[in-house]
Amino acid sequence: MSDPDEVAVVGAGLAGCLLACFLARRGLPVALYERRPDPRTGTAERGRSINLALSERGLDALRRVGLDRQVMAEALPMRGRVIHPVKGEPDFQPYSHDGARAINSISRGALNNALLDAAAALPGVRIAFGHRLTELDPKTGEMTFDTEGGPVRACAAVVIGADGAGSAVRAQLLAHGGLTESLDVLDYGYKELTIPPLDGEFALAPDALHIWPRGTSMMIALPNPDRSFTCTLFWPTSGTGSFASLGDPAAIEGHFAAHYPDLGPLAPTLVEDYRRNPVGTLGTVRCRPWQVNGTAGLIGDAAHAIVPFYGQGANCAFEDVVELDRCLAETGGDWTAALPLLEARRADNTEAIARMALANFVEMRDKVASPMFQLGKKAEHL
Ligand code: FAD
Repeated sequence: MSDPDEVAVVGAGLAGCLLACFLARRGLPVALYERRPDPRTGTAERGRSINLALSERGLDALRRVGLDRQVMAEALPMRGRVIHPVKGEPDFQPYSHDGARAINSISRGALNNALLDAAAALPGVRIAFGHRLTELDPKTGEMTFDTEGGPVRACAAVVIGADGAGSAVRAQLLAHGGLTESLDVLDYGYKELTIPPLDGEFALAPDALHIWPRGTSMMIALPNPDRSFTCTLFWPTSGTGSFASLGDPAAIEGHFAAHYPDLGPLAPTLVEDYRRNPVGTLGTVRCRPWQVNGTAGLIGDAAHAIVPFYGQGANCAFEDVVELDRCLAETGGDWTAALPLLEARRADNTEAIARMALANFVEMRDKVASPMFQLGKKAEHL
């Protein structure tokens, strides 16, 4: 049975778990609904980015719930970019002249698990895994979830959709005429590849973000605590030079030997990874308003998913949570005032980041190899 005074947070991803922590600290009962099984007991979903660049924006939020030290204990600071040309030596471009500024490579799974543990440990938080929201009536707060045992109904005073770019909560608000949305899907997708440790050590410099700018394609690599790197290849999804154009192992090997010649010797499972790993989609989600009646709202990617080229989606989602907590404090816990206030304060900022993320794609793909971009980068984005 669910408590009708509960705040329902749909999606126990990064934003949802952090929000549950903040709300529980305000003394509110929280029901966190997640479509997946408990990730702490199973394996990570394929096709999601394995690691993330966490910057000060995100760290600030973690600090407020006392999780910064735990998360940073496993973080790998990246103090600059290493540009890998097709020919010639890699070039290190520091984020600051003294090398002190860094963005942090963090395991998405470990971060999510740390947030889940923190939420689950707080009084008043209950977590229901294996619950996929399928219906929401924004007027009454009545929800229906698909579960292994069949449909489950629940009700909440306030429902917050923290269910990511393909948000079911957003779809329900749209279906009830509560908002309008636009989805700009990029004609580029992404695929993850692995550089394992070499003789037990990192095969590339571990204190940097690695970039292979190739004009129509681009690859980046971030270090992992197990001394591997996760590479993310960005490429068009269709056409002659695209993911669709490479099928058999010889074509895959030939393509990488021609365009990413230093990768092959470091990536023994390249062909296997390429054939096995899915192509993820990328896009920008915009919707207005982010809330209906002051009782159903959206946060994080559900409200404003962006392309990943600025490394700021999760950082932004965390900032939303901090701002919502501030709005609740300023309005005496009045959701009907706090949710519109959150949107008023955040929407211009998230729109700015959405545009900068698209612009940074062009910079990373084409321009980072040019000398004018080699100085003055700040350690806040990729
Ligand atoms: P999500 O993390 O997507 O979480 C949504 C949760 O809701 C999931 O647990 C999902 O299972 C659950 N859910 C979905 N539908 C339902 C439903 N119907 N019912 C119940 N539960 C549901 N950001 C950075 O800051 N730095 C980076 O370096 C970075 N790199 C990225 C690289 C790639 C390739 C991509 C694709 C993204 C990257 N991002 C990065 C963006 C970042 O991943 C997202 O912005 C962030 O995950 C958003 O968090 P969220 O909690 O809003 O959504």
